[in-house]
Amino acid sequence: MPIRDGVGDTAALTNASDIFSLIATGTAVSRSALLERSGLSRVTVTQRLNALIAADLIGEAAETLPSGGRPTRVLTVNRQVGHVLVANIGESHLHLALMSPDLMMIAQSTLRYEVAEGPTATLNRIADGFRQLQAETGDNGILLGIGLSLPAPVDYKRGRVVGPSVMRGWDDVDIIGPMAAHFDAPVYVDNDVNLMTLYEYRRHFQLADDILYIKVGTGIGAGFIADGKIFRGAHGASGDIGHIQFDSDDPPLCRCGKLGCVEARAAGWAIARDLRALGFKAENARDVIALVDEQVPEAIMLLRKAGRVIGEVTADVVSILNPGLIVVGGTLARGGDFLLSGIRELVYQRCLPLATRELNIVLAPPQADIALLGTGQLVVDNVFSPPGAADLLNRIVASMTRPVADRPEGARRRVRRAG
Ligand SMILES: [Zn+2]
Repeated sequence: MPIRDGVGDTAALTNASDIFSLIATGTAVSRSALLERSGLSRVTVTQRLNALIAADLIGEAAETLPSGGRPTRVLTVNRQVGHVLVANIGESHLHLALMSPDLMMIAQSTLRYEVAEGPTATLNRIADGFRQLQAETGDNGILLGIGLSLPAPVDYKRGRVVGPSVMRGWDDVDIIGPMAAHFDAPVYVDNDVNLMTLYEYRRHFQLADDILYIKVGTGIGAGFIADGKIFRGAHGASGDIGHIQFDSDDPPLCRCGKLGCVEARAAGWAIARDLRALGFKAENARDVIALVDEQVPEAIMLLRKAGRVIGEVTADVVSILNPGLIVVGGTLARGGDFLLSGIRELVYQRCLPLATRELNIVLAPPQADIALLGTGQLVVDNVFSPPGAADLLNRIVASMTRPVADRPEGARRRVRRAG
């Protein structure tokens, strides 16, 4: 039954969240798959699907699935349903984006930024930046959710930075509350390396369910997908391999204040430090890779050495976690085999054959903005999950039953189309 002027069959729509979730997560994208996966009767599936199609939330694409028998029409979430707002907080910039539900970048902006600005000013700047992106792009439907990527350990359940990090002044500060006060939508916060890991898994390596992702950039960190989910540890500090310490005669000082950390031996900032000592101009991972690209022997030697240091710690991680795949990303991964060979050498040498028999160690496909895309992925994974979808449909119904003048643009358009 179509929705008429916002007072139609809204009950059928709110009841349809299970069907919406199955389609939006890609779990079931045909009528027959919906029947099978939902366990509901044909009549109920048809009724709920019709409510979703009438409200313009779900569309039937012309393409067909090879179903063995006759072709099946493919069900998808309409891109106009809504949009996602994401921000990647870096150490020197804020990168903001407005994305479609299938994570296409619709608009983005980059703002110069100092971590020293502190949480309140930063969150206000992000909220202003988000509003500007919304104003620039016009009608993008309802705001599905907001995601923030932070360069610090994050207690995911509480949405807070934990422990001392580059984000001074953020420790245990509420992030979700102030963002949710700006926007009527759920807010998710996670550590940038976890989000990069999530994106690589979901977009490039979904066939492996246990993945270790190592980010080797100006700093070093790791993320782990265990049985298809991000493994965060008890407080979000999982994967902090950059600050594991090794003994040696003359251990280098780390930027965390300890001696002999992996970062102080192998991160972009440490290689740049060693290159400066040799008379080269280098400040960060990008400068290191520029020298490697110019075939500067000292830069190549230091990158190879870094690979072996990372290999040493990776071998321990492999022994503990037994990943099925290791993906190496970050700026220094652009050095290719100069970095990878040392990691492979140490892992295959030190781990038991059972752990390495089918273990591949590969480079992440080169792509910009993966922390930002991973943040979008985190938002849609949550918003399209069964509880997230129930909440979303309630919000959409509420926006439809409000007086026309108060409705968000997307809701007004949906009512016009359906009425
Ligand atoms: Zn350290």
